[in-house]
Amino acid sequence: MIISVKNLRKTYTNGNLSVEVLKGVNLTVEKGEYISIMGPSGSGKSTFLNILGCLDLLTSGEYILDDKNITNLSDDELSEVRCEKIGFVFQAYNLLAKLTSKENVELPAIYKGTSSNKRSEKAVELLKMVGLEERINHKPSELSGGQKQRVAIARSLINNPSIILADEPTGNLDSKSSEEILEIFRKLNEMGVTIIMVTHEEDVAMHTKRIVRLKDGIIEKDYLVENRLGGK
Ligand code: ADP
Ligand code: ADP
Repeated sequence: MIISVKNLRKTYTNGNLSVEVLKGVNLTVEKGEYISIMGPSGSGKSTFLNILGCLDLLTSGEYILDDKNITNLSDDELSEVRCEKIGFVFQAYNLLAKLTSKENVELPAIYKGTSSNKRSEKAVELLKMVGLEERINHKPSELSGGQKQRVAIARSLINNPSIILADEPTGNLDSKSSEEILEIFRKLNEMGVTIIMVTHEEDVAMHTKRIVRLKDGIIEKDYLVENRLGGK
């Protein structure tokens, strides 16, 4: 079991207004799973993914990641866990405009303290793996949306995470580029990477192995995908 979440609650408070967005979520994920998180807009999908990715704090409940209880860690400790175990892919790519593909991919390794030679070599290897060997020194403005997302996937992999979390990774892409991204995820999952992806597109979710549906802050449905698309 790589993730265990018990009775997870999240309340956002702005001034004297507070809203409970997650109302007792329970989820266990085994190593090597490939999961879609679905649900209506505002149902808490991004909030849940951000908590799983140690980008946001939970309000109450328990979160065990890779046998480590991270429920009560400080922001700094969470950053360390995130750096070590998690790769994040965003809908809007979140690349730095002034940096080349290679420099963007290297960033999390700089933060981790990997030597310059090692991270450079690894960044090139990952950019090749996502099919961008000819775009290594290009800046984001010189890349198509699909290419930007492939750079972002390479960046998410630079520190060898055991989990990739992706929030609507194909949300800004045409169907051909989306297929390419899903094919890369399929290969990564085949290599043993656990992937959890938020999507509102049923046909994207059909590429994954399991669908978790959130509604009104709880898990409404949780089931395996039969007749997967693109699977082998
Ligand atoms: P989804 O990804 O399913 O659309 P979100 O997790 O983004 O849902 O948001 C769930 C609810 O939490 C929404 O009502 C949203 O307005 C609210 N919310 C999200 N982030 C914050 C925040 N930082 N402060 C206050 N409310 C927030
Ligand atoms: P897609 O069909 O995937 O959306 P585009 O039509 O945006 O791709 O881009 C096609 C090709 O043109 C890509 O290989 C991309 O690298 C290149 N390209 C896109 N925008 C620019 C740009 N502003 N400067 C240089 N090359 C670009």
